[in-house]
Amino acid sequence: MLGELAKPVMYLTGVGPKKSELYEKLGVKTVYDLLYHFPRYYIDMNEPQVIRDAPLNEQVVLKGRVVRKLPEGNIRRGLTVYKAIFTDDTADLTIVIYNAGFMFKALEVGHEYFLVGKLTGNMIRREINSPQIYPADAEPVQPVYRLTEGITQNQLRLNMRTALDSLGGFIYEPLPADVVREQGLCSLNYALQNIHYPTDMHTLELAKNRLVFDELLTLALGMLMMKSRSREKAGCPMGAESIDEYYSALPFELTNGQKDAINDCICDMQKDYPMNRLVQGDVGSGKTAVAAGAAYFAYKNGFQTALMAPTEILAGQHYETLKGFLEPLGVKVVLLTGSLTPKKKEKVKSDIAAGEYHVIVGTHALVQASTEFRRLGLVITDEQHRFGVEQRALLAGKGDNPHKLVMSATPIPRTLALMIYGDLDISVLKELPKGRQPVETYAVTGKLRERAFGYVKQYIEEGRQAYIVCPMIEESDSDLRDVKSYAKEISEGVFSEYRVGLLHGRLSADSKEKVMKKFKAHELDILVSTTVVEVGVDVPNAAVMIIENADRFGLSQLHQLRGRVGRGEHKSTCILITDNPTEEVVQRLKILSKSHDGFEISQEDLKLRGPGDFFGSRQHGLPKMKIADMSQDMEILVKAQETAKEILCKDPQLDKGKNRGLRELVEQLFEQDIAND
Ligand code: ADP
Ligand code: MG
Repeated sequence: MLGELAKPVMYLTGVGPKKSELYEKLGVKTVYDLLYHFPRYYIDMNEPQVIRDAPLNEQVVLKGRVVRKLPEGNIRRGLTVYKAIFTDDTADLTIVIYNAGFMFKALEVGHEYFLVGKLTGNMIRREINSPQIYPADAEPVQPVYRLTEGITQNQLRLNMRTALDSLGGFIYEPLPADVVREQGLCSLNYALQNIHYPTDMHTLELAKNRLVFDELLTLALGMLMMKSRSREKAGCPMGAESIDEYYSALPFELTNGQKDAINDCICDMQKDYPMNRLVQGDVGSGKTAVAAGAAYFAYKNGFQTALMAPTEILAGQHYETLKGFLEPLGVKVVLLTGSLTPKKKEKVKSDIAAGEYHVIVGTHALVQASTEFRRLGLVITDEQHRFGVEQRALLAGKGDNPHKLVMSATPIPRTLALMIYGDLDISVLKELPKGRQPVETYAVTGKLRERAFGYVKQYIEEGRQAYIVCPMIEESDSDLRDVKSYAKEISEGVFSEYRVGLLHGRLSADSKEKVMKKFKAHELDILVSTTVVEVGVDVPNAAVMIIENADRFGLSQLHQLRGRVGRGEHKSTCILITDNPTEEVVQRLKILSKSHDGFEISQEDLKLRGPGDFFGSRQHGLPKMKIADMSQDMEILVKAQETAKEILCKDPQLDKGKNRGLRELVEQLFEQDIAND
C-alpha cells in the first residue's frame, strides 16, 4: 500500500547516512514518516506589513527590495557584520547580518525579498537583525518544523520538498472512496502537499481537516475493535436477585441518579457479555454507594467483587465505607494493600482465594499475578485514568472475564470518554445528594493570606476542620514552599493553638493512614497536605480549604480539591491563593468562583490547557496523536466516531479490500503505541 513511501529517508536525494541518523531522532525513518512530520507552525507572508507602520520589537513580515549593500565591518576577530539598506517605498530599514556572509552575498541589489524578524531602533532609524530572508517568489506560507541538532530549518524544508515531489503521480489513499466523498475531504496527496506548503490559510484548513480526520478515524476504529473483541467473550451472567435490603440498610435515601446507575449495572450484569460501564459523577455525588450496590448484587449472585483505588488512602477509605454499607448485610469486606506485612498479606490472599471474602478493596497490589480470586464477577476501578494501561489489563484478565465498572469524577466530555474507555456505557450522576451547598470560592493574592488564615480560625472555632493544600513535596522548584517547612511554620506561628497534621506522598503508607485517621476522628483541626487529598477523601466536618500556589493547578484539579469540603451540611469555603497574580491567572481562577459544575469547568480547562491535563501525560493510555487535538477537534472527533461505527458495522475486522488501508493505519497507530510505552 505504502509503496515508495515505505522507503527509508536515505533514499531521498540530499539525505545521506548521517542525516538519516539525525532524522531518526525526530522519529523519522521512512519517507512516509517525514511527510507526517508536520510543521509546528507557519510563517504566512501573504499579507506583509508596510515598513512605515510595522511595530517595533515583535515579529513582522515585510516585503521590499534591497537598495544598497554597505561595506562589511569587522567588529572584532571572528565577528563580521554585514549591512544593507532595504525599502518598500513607505520607509527604509537596515538589514543587519552577523557572520553569515553567504546569506549576505545572496542578496542582490534591486531584487525583491520577504524579511521575517523583529524591527528594532526607532521610527526613524529602523533595523532588522538576522532576519529570515526569502526571495519574493518563494512559497508564500513557510512551514516551521521541530528540529534536532544538526538539521536546520532550511535543510528540513528542502528535504520535505523532495519528499513531496517524489509523491508526484503516486497516489496513496488509505480511506475508502465513499468516506472521502461523504465527508467532503480532500485527497491525501493534496492534504500532504498543503499541510507543508499551503498556498494560504484556507488550503491549510482543508489539509488539516483531512489529516485530523484520518487520525481520529484510525483511533476510533482501533478503540471500537478492541471493545468488540471483549464483547465476543462470555462474561459472568447473573440472575435477577433483589437488593432491596441494601437500599433499606443505607443511612440515607439515594438520589435518582444513584438509583438509575445501580439499575444500569444490575441490567448489564445479567447479560451474557461483560458489563463495561463508566459511572461519572462530580465530586461528592456519591459514587461509592453505587459501587457498593453493584458489589452487593454480585454478592447475592455468589460472585466476588474487587475494587481498585489509585492510592492507599483512598483504598483505606473505600474499605471503611463499603464495610459500613455492606457488613451489616453479611458481606465480608477486606483491604489488600502493598503495606500489609508479608505474613498478613499471605493470609489475606489465601483467604481471598478460598472465597472467605466477598468484596476485596485494594491498591495495585490487588492486581499482582499472585493474587487469586474465587469467582471474581465484578471489577470496580476508581479514577481509572490514574492507572497504567497494563494494570487495568491485568485486573481485567483476572477471573472469568468479569464485569467492569469504572468510577470517575473527572467530567470527561462524552466524546472523549468514548475514546478513552472504548465504547463503554455511561451512567451520569447529575445531582448531588440533598442538602449540599456549593463551596463558596475566592481567589486572592498572597497579600490576603493573613485574612484567609483568620477565616480558617473562625471555622475552627465553630468546630469545623480545615485543609491547607500545597503543591507536591516532590516539586524541587526552590520557589515553591516546601510543604514540610510550611506546616512547621504555621503550626508554630499563626495556628500554634490548634492541632496541625501533615500529609504528603513521601510518608509511609502507615503514617499516611494514621494522619488520615486522626483527621477523620477530629483529633486534628488542620491538615496540611499535598494533592494526595485530591480524590475521594471524605471528612464531612472539614468545611474550609486553602489552596496555596493555586495557579500551579488546572481548574479541574482545583475543583476536585475543593470537593473535599462541602460534603456535610455545613456551609463551606475554599480560598485559592496565588503569589503570581497575572491577569490571566486571576481570570482563570475566577471561573471557579462562578461555576460549581465540574463539567463546565472541565470544558474551560479543555479550552485553556488542552486535554493533557485531565489525564496526566498519556496516562489515559491512548496512542499519541500527531495532529489531532481532542480539545479543538471535537466536531471531527464526533464525525470520525460515527464513520468508524458505520464502517465496522459492515466490516468488523476491516477485511474488505477497500478497508485494507484503514486496517494498515489502525495497526500502525496501535503498534507504535505499544512500542513507545
Ligand atoms: P464521590 O462521588 O465523590 O466518590 P462519595 O461516594 O465519597 O462521593 O460520597 C460522598 C459523601 O456523600 C459520603 O459521605 C457518602 O456517604 C455521602 N452520600 C452518598 N450518597 C448520598 C445520598 N444519597 N445522600 C446523602 N449522602 C450521601
Ligand atoms: Mg469517590
